[in-house]
Amino acid sequence: MRSNRPHFPGLLSPVLLSRRRALLGTLSLLALPAATQVSAASPAKPKQQQRSDVWPHASQVPGGVARLSLGPSARRPAAFSGDVPLLVLGDAIEWTALVGIPLAAAPGDASIAVRPESGADKQVAYTVAPKQYREQRLTVPPRTVDLSPEDEARYERERAHLATVMATFTDLRPDASLQMRVPVPGRRSSSFGLRRVFNGQSRNPHSGMDIAAGTGTPVLAPLPGRVIDTGDYFFNGGTVWLDHGGGLLTMYCHLSRVDVKVGDVLKTGEQLAAVGATGRVTGPHLHWSVMLNRAMVDPALFIAA
Ligand SMILES: [Zn+2]
Repeated sequence: MRSNRPHFPGLLSPVLLSRRRALLGTLSLLALPAATQVSAASPAKPKQQQRSDVWPHASQVPGGVARLSLGPSARRPAAFSGDVPLLVLGDAIEWTALVGIPLAAAPGDASIAVRPESGADKQVAYTVAPKQYREQRLTVPPRTVDLSPEDEARYERERAHLATVMATFTDLRPDASLQMRVPVPGRRSSSFGLRRVFNGQSRNPHSGMDIAAGTGTPVLAPLPGRVIDTGDYFFNGGTVWLDHGGGLLTMYCHLSRVDVKVGDVLKTGEQLAAVGATGRVTGPHLHWSVMLNRAMVDPALFIAA
């Protein structure tokens, strides 16, 4: 659950935003399957390599998503990373397991287990490539990083509650497209994965995307989903969690207003909240996280541009 440690202020600094434009170009290319980059240079490539329109894009790095072919079978196979169930897409001709790779994952060999209706699990191997995320070193007043005993106790209670929220796994809806709409228009930071060092102490990396927007800006559902949690949390402030099925969850933080309640079912584009500056932040913005099989992954892999 480390990856859900909420983020700290300072992530929308002018320096980061000015770098964003240059980085976004690079990042969006990296996020595409390698075959897409090849086919751009040589248009005569076979059809199977033209896969630029699959979401999420494959990116086998910490904080990315692996797309692993499971082959044909009459029924949707069950697949697991450790004991965590995975999202499996497709049809009888070909099934694909999507694996969220935690930011803390070690590069190298990894595998998932595919459970047949009878018999032993089959292992499907993949490789996690290294990715060096940028580092941000900040010196801030000690009070803002060292919690009081009361705040620490509150944070621990919230963390235990959020662990149950993050374990949500429901069936994928049958028409599942996983291409997400951006929940708020605005400048999107490329700070996902940013390694943060406050007063010389390493903190958990930034596990979402920050989008600059004024207080009150509507936050819209990026996919159909069901509200599974709302609350006012110590670090994250006003927060909404959506369940999109198959262990794919999204989280919205620092909200000034929450317009939904647990159990509400939303269509793509329906308003769920308004942008704010609640929790531990220095100014209004939306913090948006995407979680797949309990791993926070880069939201940019799920959006078209
Ligand atoms: Zn953030």
